[in-house]
Amino acid sequence: MPKGIYLHKKRFTDEELRIKHCIRNRKRAKDNPERGRNQLRNWRKNNPDKARQMEKSYRENNLEAYRQRKRNYARLHPEIFRSASRKRRVIKLKAEGDHTFGDWELLKKQYGYVCPSCHKSEPEIKLTEDHIVPLTKGGSDFIENIQPLCKPCNSIKHTKIMKFELQMGTPASSPVTAGMGGSGAGQGLLTQNR
Ligand SMILES: [Zn+2]
Repeated sequence: MPKGIYLHKKRFTDEELRIKHCIRNRKRAKDNPERGRNQLRNWRKNNPDKARQMEKSYRENNLEAYRQRKRNYARLHPEIFRSASRKRRVIKLKAEGDHTFGDWELLKKQYGYVCPSCHKSEPEIKLTEDHIVPLTKGGSDFIENIQPLCKPCNSIKHTKIMKFELQMGTPASSPVTAGMGGSGAGQGLLTQNR
């Protein structure tokens, strides 16, 4: 076959090929999104270091968009977000222990969904996980070291070592500060150490 017959064939430069592939890949992803997602998932699994590096440089180049996405995610999935940030703190502070979302749900149930400090209950308040002995003071992340407190009570307790026990029959309208500060009747307060 004479060589000249191929002369009409266009040779693509690298840049043109890159764009061509890019367009093709986009079309494929649109036609079959699940396949694309699986491919990406597999690629990440096989190239964890490269994937981390790429994610990091993407984050650095799109910081505002990344932060906005993170904020949106936190708004939509507050429980998952809180649990992830708690786990990061546990690792950072080299604390021991771990507990599951199920453990936490069970604990709240045992407390009757009531904050043992102010005696308000969900859904009026939102219970948060408090470390009885704070992680910063060597406390663990085992469920035994967790008590449910509403946000204001959790903030007031801060890094003090306090365990509240729910006292049955206490009026639900007790002030938020009941049991706080270690003075007076110590309503709802079982043990306190500073
Ligand atoms: Zn409270």
